[in-house]
Order: sequence, then C-alpha cells, then structure tokens
Amino acid sequence: MKKVAIIGGGISGLSALHFLMIRHSDICQPVLFEKESRLGGTIGTDRIGGFVSDWGPNGFLDKVPLTLQMVDELGATDLLEPADSASGRRFIYAHNRLNEISASPLAFMRSPLLSLRGRLRLTAEPFIKKRINWDEDESIYNFVARRIGREAADTLIDPMVSGIFGGAVRSLSLASCFPIMVAMEKEHGSLIKAMFARMKAAKKKGSSGKAGPAGPAGHLTSFKNGLVTIIEKFHEKYDQQIKTDQAATAIKKSKAGYLIEFGSNQSEEFDAVICSTPAFTAADITADMDGSLSRILASIPYSSIAVVCLGFRREDIGHDLDGFGFLVPRTQGKRILGNIWTSSIFSGRSPEGLVQLRVMIGGASDPEAASLSDGALLDIVTGDLEPILNISGPPAFVRIFKFARGIPQFTIGHRNRLQQLNDRLVRYPGLYFTGNAYDGVSLNDCVIRSDKVVKDMRRYFS
Ligand SMILES: Cc1cc2nc3c(=O)[nH]c(=O)nc-3n(C[C@H](O)[C@H](O)[C@H](O)COP(=O)(O)OP(=O)(O)OC[C@H]3O[C@@H](n4cnc5c(N)ncnc54)[C@H](O)[C@@H]3O)c2cc1C
Repeated sequence: MKKVAIIGGGISGLSALHFLMIRHSDICQPVLFEKESRLGGTIGTDRIGGFVSDWGPNGFLDKVPLTLQMVDELGATDLLEPADSASGRRFIYAHNRLNEISASPLAFMRSPLLSLRGRLRLTAEPFIKKRINWDEDESIYNFVARRIGREAADTLIDPMVSGIFGGAVRSLSLASCFPIMVAMEKEHGSLIKAMFARMKAAKKKGSSGKAGPAGPAGHLTSFKNGLVTIIEKFHEKYDQQIKTDQAATAIKKSKAGYLIEFGSNQSEEFDAVICSTPAFTAADITADMDGSLSRILASIPYSSIAVVCLGFRREDIGHDLDGFGFLVPRTQGKRILGNIWTSSIFSGRSPEGLVQLRVMIGGASDPEAASLSDGALLDIVTGDLEPILNISGPPAFVRIFKFARGIPQFTIGHRNRLQQLNDRLVRYPGLYFTGNAYDGVSLNDCVIRSDKVVKDMRRYFS
C-alpha cells in the first residue's frame, strides 16, 4: 500500500481525497492534513439567527458531470438546491440605473446600456478580422475591445471579470481565463458566428443552448443549508483520513519519496504528495527543497476581496429584487463590484419578512478595500447600495468576510508559468499540485484538476 499525503482541506484537497478513496483505495492510503481546525478553505457558511450566509463561493454551475457525480457519491444529491429560475434576470448598473442584460439580441440592441455608437460597433463583430499571431498572450480587455469595441469592454466585460476573478481586465490573460473565447475566434473567426453555431448544435442535441441563472452555461446550484454542506459531507465520510490543526511547514525529498515536516519536531514520510494549498503557501513549503520551483509558485499573484452580507427588512427596500443581482463597471463611480440578491436566488437564506443581499468589494482594481475596518466597509457598501435599491432603513444583519489573498490572478504570462512549473516538476515524480491557482478558479475547475492529478498519480504508481 502506498502512503499518500494531501496537504490542504479546501474543495481541491477534499476532492482529491475523495477520488483516491473511491477509485484507488486498493493501492493507496491517503491522509489529508489541514492547518485550520475546520475544513473548507474559502468555502464556509454562517447560520445565524435565520440567516444563511456563504463566506466565499455561493454556488457552482451544474454543467460538470464529475462534480455532480462526486456530490452523489457523497450522498448529498437530495440536498442540492438549484437557483430559482425566477432569479434569471441580471443587471448592470450604468447611467445611474439598473439595466437588464437581455439574452435576446433585439432587446439588447434597444437597451440604453451602450450608446448607439457602442451598439453599432458591437454588431460589426462578425466583420472584424481574426487575429494572426496565436502565440501572443492577449489581455481580456484587448481581445474584447478589438472584437466588440472599447465601450462594450468597459461596460459589459470589465464588471464580469471583476465578478468572477476579482481581477483587472487589462492584466488578465484571455487564454488562461477564457480559453473558450480563443477557440471561438480561432474556429469561427467571430464570437457572434460561434455563438450561433453553438446554439444550432445545442438545438440539434435537444437543449436550448441558453444559460440558466448566473451562468454563461449551466445553472447555478448550491445546497439547501448553504455551500458548506458539501464540506460537512466530506468530513462525515472521511473523518478517519483527515487530520485538522496540522500545518505542513516543509516538503523535502526522502528515500521513500517525500518527507513532510509539521513544525520543527514532527515529520512523516510518504510515497507521494498532493499539495492543494494556495500557490503562495506551496511556494513557502517547497522553498528549502527547490528554490526555482518555489519562485515559480510564488509568482502567481492573488487579489484581495471582501464579501459583505446584509439583512434588511423587506419593506425597507424599494426595489423588487426580481432577479439575480447586478454588476458595476469601474467607470460608474461606485466602489462596490456587484450585489447578489441572495434571498431571490436560494430559499431559506433569511428569516420571514427580511431579505439577504451579498455585496462584493475589492479585487485587483481596489486592493485596499478588503483591509478596511468592518465599519468603514459597511459605510461604503451601504452608501453605494442605498440609492440603487432605494433602501430606507439600516441593515438588521451584517456579516463581513475578508480574503486578503482570495483569488489567484491568471495574468499575462500565466501559461508560461504553468509550463515552467510542469518542466520543473519532472524532477519530482510523485509530487503534484492541485488547487485554483493553475487551470481555473471555479469550484468545478478545482474538482477537474484534482481528478486529473489523481489519475496522474495512479499512472505513476502502476
Ligand atoms: C469571495 C470569493 C467568491 C467566490 N465565489 C465563487 C463562486 O460563487 N463559485 C465558484 O465556483 N467559485 C467561487 N470562488 C472560487 C472558489 O471558492 C475557490 O477557487 C475554491 O474554493 C478554492 O479551493 P481550494 O481548495 O483550491 O483552495 P482553498 O479553499 O484556499 O483551500 C486551501 C486549504 O489549504 C489549507 N492550508 C493552507 N496552508 C496549509 C498548510 N501549510 N498545511 C495544511 N493546510 C494548509 C487552507 O487552510 C485551506 O483550507 C470564490 C472565491 C472567493 C474568494
């Protein structure tokens, strides 16, 4: 039996543990070490006074069968809660009002969200030549401005990128953040043509090809009592394999494979190691073993972000809250990045007569925000929100979650960094890195990467 260590008990480490236990318990005995007394990493849910408030992520898109299969194997399918389809309407705050983003091209063309010039520029997209140099790592902003114009890039794409990555649209790499867009331009020469082709193909297959609430594809899904339910299920099932309050401080090469140190007087040898901590921690714990490897990991930047959950009496909000929420382009003079109308999306998130809202603030374009005091954050958030939603009373409930290094940033050059990492790892058979810092930041991306890493490990052992 091979001894395998997993370092880190967020969704990445826990799904690696699950895949090893479900598929490879015949050849290996995994142990997961988590530095905190709780599991989940950025996934957490507070259940206080009838409010159910997610810390970081509040759901995942149901488009990845592997994630749904894992949920089923954990016995949690009955606990899933898809976002209410009535919450499908999404808005962008611009020109001092909320503008609905319509899925219908005709309605979109009538919307005042973009100026007439901006709308006309967008319709010219199919006639814009595709790029020639595919090796260049283009920023999301340059790509979007090139294809659909600067106004659409500032108004539509900048807030979406802030909402997903907490990132700055001018420095993030298109190929690393949205590889699908590169493929669309490459194959069809145009995003609009590619979208029509996909809709046609989806129709043929029998699906609408349209997005569900909150999703470019897939339907936003969580659990009835908050996202932390999945973490509780992992803990219940794998209690014997999990050690909390165990911070790995170093990984070193050893005769059998790798020696993991936990402080100065505790260590243990393993045949293989899966490190699922954030990249900056992975950098720290590999520094003694290999300075170059550590520097590559340390070069992946992170942005800070804060989530402010607010409860209001329903009658104190003048807006219908009939949708998913809204995003705010940086050009509109507000500091908040966006607001999700939690109570309209999932049931049971607030007590009778009250509603819960969730506001994101910070990100790469506002790095100081997440380190402000709770009082200062609350003032900014309520000040920004009040006129938009016509709020007439103070919040009855406040929970603030701050993430100093919350979301990895796939900046220009990210693909090269990954290549360097893979090249360096050739020297370390049996050592793997999973987590959100490499292929994608969503929960689905983390599950997919952990599955891949576990399959690589299986091949290494056989
Ligand atoms: C505010 C916010 C909102 C988000 N919203 C969404 C969303 O709605 N949908 C979505 O799909 N994704 C969302 N994401 C992204 C998603 O939450 C993350 O990408 C994902 O949870 C990362 O999981 P992970 O296991 O890779 O890392 P983490 O969750 O960071 O877990 C790493 C774990 O390693 C542990 N650890 C660290 N150092 C050590 C050590 N030395 N020894 C042992 N253990 C250690 C940590 O304590 C932690 O438990 C959001 C992220 C944030 C911050």
